[in-house]
Amino acid sequence: MGILSILGLMEETKNIVLHRGHNVKNWLVLGNDCYALECADCKKTVMIKEHPLPNEIKVGGEAVAVNCVKPVKEKKLRKK
Ligand SMILES: [Zn+2]
Repeated sequence: MGILSILGLMEETKNIVLHRGHNVKNWLVLGNDCYALECADCKKTVMIKEHPLPNEIKVGGEAVAVNCVKPVKEKKLRKK
């Protein structure tokens, strides 16, 4: 697998994560072929591996599986 296909996989994975409402920006490089995204709001992560071992998966992590749960912010009461 070449660099183009890993970039495509990264883009695809990021789109899925964004569609789940997660607040992710840049991929973190964890190793030669291992990249991760962390949601700034709920801290869930997704990790991709370019060359997974037979017992590993290419894309994994909670951020692709579940929707983002935004941290509870104090709501300001608006008076009209
Ligand atoms: Zn999130």
